[in-house]
Amino acid sequence: MNISNANGQSVLIVGGGIAGMQAALDLADQGIKVYLVEKLPSIGGRMAQLDKTFPTLDCSSCILTPKMVDVARHKNIELLTYSEVQEIKGRPGNFTIQILKKPRYVNIDTCNGCGICVAKCPKKAPNEFNMGIDDRKAIYFLFPQAVPLVPVIDSDNCIYFLRGKCRACKKHCPTHSINFEQQPEIVEIHAGAVIFATGFGLYDPSKNNDYEYNVFPDVITSLELERLVSSTGPTEGHVVRPSNGEEPRKVAFILCVGSRSQKANYWCSRFCCMASIKQAILLKEHYPNIECTIFYMDIRAFGKGFQEFYERARAELGIRFIKGRVGSVKENPEKENLLLRYEHVEAGYVREEDFDLVVLAVGAENALHEYPVPLELDDDGFITTKDRYLAPVYTTVEGIFVAGTAEGPKDIPDCVVQAGAAAMEASILLMGGKQNG
Ligand SMILES: Cc1cc2nc3c(=O)[nH]c(=O)nc-3n(C[C@H](O)[C@H](O)[C@H](O)COP(=O)(O)OP(=O)(O)OC[C@H]3O[C@@H](n4cnc5c(N)ncnc54)[C@H](O)[C@@H]3O)c2cc1C
Repeated sequence: MNISNANGQSVLIVGGGIAGMQAALDLADQGIKVYLVEKLPSIGGRMAQLDKTFPTLDCSSCILTPKMVDVARHKNIELLTYSEVQEIKGRPGNFTIQILKKPRYVNIDTCNGCGICVAKCPKKAPNEFNMGIDDRKAIYFLFPQAVPLVPVIDSDNCIYFLRGKCRACKKHCPTHSINFEQQPEIVEIHAGAVIFATGFGLYDPSKNNDYEYNVFPDVITSLELERLVSSTGPTEGHVVRPSNGEEPRKVAFILCVGSRSQKANYWCSRFCCMASIKQAILLKEHYPNIECTIFYMDIRAFGKGFQEFYERARAELGIRFIKGRVGSVKENPEKENLLLRYEHVEAGYVREEDFDLVVLAVGAENALHEYPVPLELDDDGFITTKDRYLAPVYTTVEGIFVAGTAEGPKDIPDCVVQAGAAAMEASILLMGGKQNG
């Protein structure tokens, strides 16, 4: 396909999660050149950390991996991973962008992704992708299906960078791709439009010590459970209590942790109710005798198929739903588990009950506080759109668009739809069409 219909202009997309990738593919398929900048060593975003997706329980990586490969192979997409945008100057149709390429210390053009370097590396560090539940090596792939499948050296933990010794990776690399001398590099590009798809962060329950998250190892977050239940996760899908490595028999899910709260974030994160129901269903599928209880304020089952998903969990699978807040989590040393005190609003009683594992459905927050261009942000920290009703992908800066959870919490289908819309508006701008916003 010729790159001709956009007056020779290109689009910069910042963030390589599902929203950024979808926008990149939609533009590239129109023949428009795209620069896709991702700060991590691989594209994929949070979706790469998910096991299955609600409400269909499709395998997340089975949907995501082919898209990642399509992005990498598309001749109109230039992928800049492990890179960050430093500065954006100019105006619609003519932006000049400075991008910092961080050193991987591995030559991306010659590495064949064989992984011998990783196997030979003697140094371990916490595995961020698995939420620190296990360790990775100092030279590592972000995850097994990473795109590009090229490892990166974490210089803070590499013995060579710390002490000047050990070159195990370099010694054993069959393609001579290790380069300890690599330096940060600034690349300048030009683009006619920019799309921010920088995603979301998650509320950290240790900030307010919610539900003794800091104190008891068997109080975990929803993303930690997502990694535990995943077959590519640290326990290969075997869900265990962090305290003793045993399978839990009774699991409590607490919804709206850090969301819809005066003490933390006031907004609803939109995907947590369904994500928790999904996780309870997955636990039931893995361990039919497990007891799952979901403590909720309201169940927000607003999407297509969501109400049916909730009904199936409740009526068919026997997942218990209790409307009420959990007041406290304490240790029950005799039984070696956790004692939850809660109010059952509908039944009108307060009770204490033991659980083996407590999962906190932590809410979404903005991922970035500062942007390389003065974008207006809402009170909740997500990117403000010019007109919520009629121009929901336009930011307040002309020529700059937004897609996915960078604009506000949403699920994967909504990210994909918004990414398509942002790609279309960017393409109209490049072709000199009438702007909507
Ligand atoms: C526990 C849990 C379970 C979930 N389960 C489901 C589910 O079953 N179904 C469903 O539909 N949704 C689910 N979701 C929601 C889903 O994860 C999100 O809707 C989706 O991942 C958002 O995609 P995104 O592209 O907007 O953001 P992200 O996935 O966050 O991607 C953003 C990307 O931008 C990159 N980035 C950030 N800043 C910069 C920068 N400055 N420069 C360059 N790159 C940058 C990030 O590294 C990241 O790769 C779940 C969420 C959680 C937390």
